[in-house]
Amino acid sequence: MLVVMQAHASEDQIRAVCQKIESLGYRAHPIPGAERTAIGITGNQGEVEPGTLEEMAGVQEVIRVTKPYKLVSRDIKEDNTVIRFPGSTATIGGSALAVMAGPCAIESREQAFAVAERVARAGAQFFRGGAYKPRTSPYSFQGLGEDGLRILAEIRDQFGMRIVTEAIDHESLELVEDYADIIQIGARNMQNFSLLRRAGRSRKPVMVKRGMAATLEELLMAAEYVMSEGNYSVILCERGVRTFADHTRNTLDLSIVPAVQRLSHLPVLVDPSHGTGKRNKVTPLSRAAVAVGADGLLVEVHHQPDKALSDGVQSLYPDQFDELMAQVRQIAPVVGRTIPPIGSDPPLEPAITPRSKVRTSAPSLS
Ligand code: PEP
Ligand code: MN
Repeated sequence: MLVVMQAHASEDQIRAVCQKIESLGYRAHPIPGAERTAIGITGNQGEVEPGTLEEMAGVQEVIRVTKPYKLVSRDIKEDNTVIRFPGSTATIGGSALAVMAGPCAIESREQAFAVAERVARAGAQFFRGGAYKPRTSPYSFQGLGEDGLRILAEIRDQFGMRIVTEAIDHESLELVEDYADIIQIGARNMQNFSLLRRAGRSRKPVMVKRGMAATLEELLMAAEYVMSEGNYSVILCERGVRTFADHTRNTLDLSIVPAVQRLSHLPVLVDPSHGTGKRNKVTPLSRAAVAVGADGLLVEVHHQPDKALSDGVQSLYPDQFDELMAQVRQIAPVVGRTIPPIGSDPPLEPAITPRSKVRTSAPSLS
């Protein structure tokens, strides 16, 4: 059920409707839009009796939502969700493209800084690197854990990039939410419903990657889990699905971008690195992703890919990333998008180490 408020409804009227919904034993999710606020109702087993709500001041109409997902749907919010970051010009979901780049894993301070310096110089506003790696083999490098998070926090301070890193379980999420600006939920955890709920209780934006065999609806339902807990800053990411085709690691499904945009107000990024698994395919598919209307890219870059502890074969050399950025800068305006100029976000304060100070503020949403 969805309560659509009138365009001029006051804050008090919105609050009163939320209180009414809560008093009926349900959860109210007020989602402000460009024109008006809509209030999603969750927690109801069956039909909600619309009568009482319909009569309340400021209510325009009460609509039954027939789709399995509610809060991710364009029914509740017609305009795109734009995620903003305090102290940064970076946005996700607006007209500017969000470019996330970095190594698959943080391997050492030297490695992370070497890559960060290059991707920042090329214009990436988000630095992405794993401190907790979900590896197929238990004997492979599993990530530096909290030491890796500390390195990421230093990179944010030094280069002014926002930090994106994966949480693989509840324990790592506790730490990741303290250090990162965006919590990544990886493909393998897309249907880890308890982890999704936990991420939904965080105040940091959550990027949900598509599961290896997930349908569009399953991806949207994963985002719904996060939103149902009250965190409305969710980003979707297409990273390829497994098919019979074996010329690439996964089959990158670019058609999901317009399909998501039709159904949902949430931003959707494309990861051509995991999507193809091959360095020589990352730039062509990045061009295609921007052309198809993606809200941004996630690209793995390593200064010494042949020495990388994970995903070296799909990692771009920094020079190749420069070239990728130059190409997508040309394509973006053709589809009505921009890429913020290099150096839009100056470095923050000099490195801060104690964990209490590393905490970053919650983003704002529109
Ligand atoms: C990653 O982003 O490094 C990663 C492990 O990706 P995915 O979860 O899409 O496999
Ligand atoms: Mn990787």
